[in-house]
Amino acid sequence: MATTADVVIVGAGIVGSSIAYHLTEAGVRNVLVVERETRQGLGSTGKSMGGVRAQFATDVNIRMSVYSMPFFARFEEATGHPSGYKPHGYLFMATNEWHMTYLRKNQSRQKSQGLKNVELLTADDIRKVLPQLRSDDIIGGSLCLTDGFVDPESVMNGFMARAVERGVTLWRGTEVTGIYVDHGKLSGVLTTNGGVSSPIVVNAAGPWAAAVARMAGAELPVEPLRRMLVLSEPFPGLPERLPMMVDMTSGWHFRQEGLGVLMAWAGTDQQPGFRADFDPAFIEKVLTHAAARVPDFANLAVNPRRCWAGLYEMSPDHHAILGPSPDVQGLYFANGFSGHGVMHSPATGRIIADLIVHGQTHIIDAQDLNVQRFAEGRAIEETAIL
Ligand SMILES: Cc1cc2nc3c(=O)[nH]c(=O)nc-3n(C[C@H](O)[C@H](O)[C@H](O)COP(=O)(O)OP(=O)(O)OC[C@H]3O[C@@H](n4cnc5c(N)ncnc54)[C@H](O)[C@@H]3O)c2cc1C
Repeated sequence: MATTADVVIVGAGIVGSSIAYHLTEAGVRNVLVVERETRQGLGSTGKSMGGVRAQFATDVNIRMSVYSMPFFARFEEATGHPSGYKPHGYLFMATNEWHMTYLRKNQSRQKSQGLKNVELLTADDIRKVLPQLRSDDIIGGSLCLTDGFVDPESVMNGFMARAVERGVTLWRGTEVTGIYVDHGKLSGVLTTNGGVSSPIVVNAAGPWAAAVARMAGAELPVEPLRRMLVLSEPFPGLPERLPMMVDMTSGWHFRQEGLGVLMAWAGTDQQPGFRADFDPAFIEKVLTHAAARVPDFANLAVNPRRCWAGLYEMSPDHHAILGPSPDVQGLYFANGFSGHGVMHSPATGRIIADLIVHGQTHIIDAQDLNVQRFAEGRAIEETAIL
């Protein structure tokens, strides 16, 4: 094999790019990133809503965010490129006591993990944030003002640009088609651009991660799931620094995008699969939830051609799967983000680089997110998913 690398990363989305960057931070420069598309961002990263938050319900997800959110705030200093970070907050709105108790419990868990600025709000506080809300049934909520939004493509490009400046090689338009394993030990990859010899391969293939793992003979429980976003035409009159507004009762949530409103709802009838076209019938369902919470949104105009769909990469417990494969020496997983891969990309890059270089990390307890947790009955369900 003509090419050799210390580490090969399969996939140049936001996760592969962050891993490349963090490897160079740790002094590993002979890194090859292989991306089958002719440009970056055509996977899930370019479809993301760009929401970033630390308001989670499990210690490990909170800790991933406690590393990642300040990283977004100093992204330009670290990489020399903008992240588009807007700390406008995420505001969870509760309409029943069960949800309020849940938010209170999460707040104390978040504080115990070092996130100090999550506030519980009254219904009056929430009305002040968005006077147009129908709020007669809202009893309170929670807000964290360092949550907010980034520009996912900008973050991905910033990570990769700095990594390339430091010596990383990026092959675009090249597919990894095989992984060489000999007696349980990895020795390289086969690509459409030839073979590459390497003792370490990182799977950062997003929704396609299970297929890449299978190339090495490893099982990885990651499934693609279609997710659709509805963007309205310009809708003036919303407050300038509006948080991501989350209606906990329906799961409908929205933020401003330019002059329009960008809306998401998980729906109830999605089946795992690679189907990723936008279904125009979805618009009416989303607008029903929108008008129920913000009556003025009954007048939102939507052009289906400006709406889009992409793929979440779901794991069985809605947490990422990070770290070495127990079956193939040299194979690492950075997969299964279940809709949180943009917000957790900084922590993921750091954790994978730590594990490759030092065999340990202090960002999280790495045992929590290894793939063995499923076989060993240690799965940890995240309930604060959107
Ligand atoms: C509609 C939608 C909204 C979302 N909103 C948010 C949000 O608000 N906040 C958030 O944090 N997350 C959000 N997500 C999830 C987030 O986008 C993903 O978790 C994240 O982008 C995953 O990044 P990735 O780099 O792992 O995957 P990807 O961006 O999919 O990158 C994987 C790359 O691997 C390449 N690849 C695959 N197989 C091969 C191969 N064999 N050889 C070479 N290359 C290969 C692909 O071409 C692709 O470019 C959203 C996702 C969707 C679909």
